[in-house]
Amino acid sequence: MTAAAATTTTESASVILPGDGIASIEEYEAGANTFDDGDMVRAATVGEKIIDRETRVASIRHPRVFSVPRKGDIVIGTVAAVMSSMMAIRIDYINGKPTTSKVECICSTRNIRRKNVALVADVVALKILGSLNGAIHGTMSAPELGVVFTKCRKCGGSVVPLRDVIKCTECSWIDERKLSNRLNNGDFVSPGPAATGAKGGSGASG
Ligand SMILES: [Zn+2]
Repeated sequence: MTAAAATTTTESASVILPGDGIASIEEYEAGANTFDDGDMVRAATVGEKIIDRETRVASIRHPRVFSVPRKGDIVIGTVAAVMSSMMAIRIDYINGKPTTSKVECICSTRNIRRKNVALVADVVALKILGSLNGAIHGTMSAPELGVVFTKCRKCGGSVVPLRDVIKCTECSWIDERKLSNRLNNGDFVSPGPAATGAKGGSGASG
């Protein structure tokens, strides 16, 4: 026996958690607050499951609509954690538009030969590859992708790119990152309140 209701729209009473599969992508499209991992439409946030049998869209009802990046989107985010072969990035912008949902994505760093691909709190640009096992995955492998804002690991000073490396303007420490060719480019969306409108290195530190 099937639990499906006779109405065109079914709402489940139970709370759905992020990563929960709510429908098969063969039958439903990913709607608001969801993403698809190539197999299932999954919840990107806590909420109530909405299965629309007319439009064939599966979504999650939540007081706020979360912005969930899709395959091919360019995102800008802040590195939240760095592990041996991957990093977690909290997404701040999707295709140039700010998002407050703070969705995280994972970026593999296994194939990037750099001493430090990126440091925690660096701002990076990624291209979204898609979703797998409940996590959104991105890549840095294109010239415009990678670190767009970083600081000196030794003294926290500003850095300038020197070919493939970066050099601190304060202490001259040379380091490596997987740099975007748009490093420190004012063209890019502002990386955060701390870096907005900074003109000339004041070097002010606590
Ligand atoms: Zn320095």
